[in-house]
Amino acid sequence: MLLNETHDPALRSWVQSANAPEADFPIQNLPLAAFRTRQERQFRIGAAIGDQILDLSHPNVAALLEPGVARACRDPVLNELMALGPAAWSHLRLNLSRALRAGSDQQDRIATALIAQDRAQYGLPARIGDFTDFYTSIHHATAVGRLLRPEQPLLPNYKWIPIAYHGRASSVRVSGEEVTRPAGQIKLPGSETPVVTASRKLDYEVELGVFVGVGNPLAQPIPIEEAWNHVFGVVLLNDWSARDIQAWEYQPLGPFLSKSFATTISPWVVGEEALRPFRRAWTRPQQDPQPLPYLQDPQDQANGALDIVLEATIVTTAMRAEGQPAALLSRASCRHAYWTIAQMVAHHTVNGCNLVAGDLLGTGTQSGPGAAEAGSLIELTAGGREPLMLPNDERRAFLEDGDEICLRGYCEREGFVRTGLGTATGRILPGAPPMNPG
Ligand code: CA
Repeated sequence: MLLNETHDPALRSWVQSANAPEADFPIQNLPLAAFRTRQERQFRIGAAIGDQILDLSHPNVAALLEPGVARACRDPVLNELMALGPAAWSHLRLNLSRALRAGSDQQDRIATALIAQDRAQYGLPARIGDFTDFYTSIHHATAVGRLLRPEQPLLPNYKWIPIAYHGRASSVRVSGEEVTRPAGQIKLPGSETPVVTASRKLDYEVELGVFVGVGNPLAQPIPIEEAWNHVFGVVLLNDWSARDIQAWEYQPLGPFLSKSFATTISPWVVGEEALRPFRRAWTRPQQDPQPLPYLQDPQDQANGALDIVLEATIVTTAMRAEGQPAALLSRASCRHAYWTIAQMVAHHTVNGCNLVAGDLLGTGTQSGPGAAEAGSLIELTAGGREPLMLPNDERRAFLEDGDEICLRGYCEREGFVRTGLGTATGRILPGAPPMNPG
């Protein structure tokens, strides 16, 4: 892996909060977001350092950057910076790292461009043209498949194709925005005909979101060896799912309205370069089909897996009223994924499909092999048949109005500084009654 001075675990920042051992945003991370203060209308691009945001549109920061990078950093979203490519991203990271280091001669000039994160509101980090959601956890695919098709949990194409469907970009929202319970066609148990009603099986899915940086021209696939040059960075992604709508609609063309009502992402995009220390070897079990040549690359096998730990927690209305802490639902690492991010990119473009800067690729629910590593309620509760018992003795088969789900992500490795993805939260609001209820 190409590590450089920005990954040095000995680096400390003159922003003291960045040096705390549990900080999500140490100087080795430097993720980017679109933010504004509550008084402002326009979003700006910022980099997180400890509990502060460095305003990249500030002239004292721009003075450290090449003109093209400085210009891209004056936009309200990251698309232009994403399209500039890895050399520009690396230039930005290096110069921010040097300016924010303890002992930097830039400290006084740069300190004027800091804003406390608790004063900030966040927007979507990019204009998202397209959202594609993959299905890369074989543990999730098998568990959900067992509920939907007990006779054949894993379909025969799963071990050959990084399965995906085209999601909905317009309903991707940033952490903190509420999620309205969807209504739709649902076929209730024992009934021959569907009704239109509010979902009773609302669920979350713990995923990683991958932002595409540089796109590819139409009809020019991205070879797997080059895939990471097109990856700008990652966010947390909650693919809210209405299981009862999904069960009735998903065959033969896949999920549609069961997923398109809302997707929540975290505001901070952690760059590809910051993730390098946390990449791991990726292996395919010997007895399984080995990837076809366009999905096979020795470099990807050497370090294509990402050891990012994802957690989901819940706070219910009653827990909130009683002042109880959030309850852990699951914890699992993305390194268990059956397909790598490079394989997702290579497969997405093998037919010549063009990716565009700001496109969002979901990894699919990241469940690990253990029972406590399942990234959705449908898995944790065996399809709702075995409700979870929460610490205050409430039971949950699926989400109820007022429930708040929080995703968290972090990377830890001996010899490197812990780095985090922040959080992605969403609270469920009651749905509007459907028109002409059946
Ligand atoms: Ca999903």
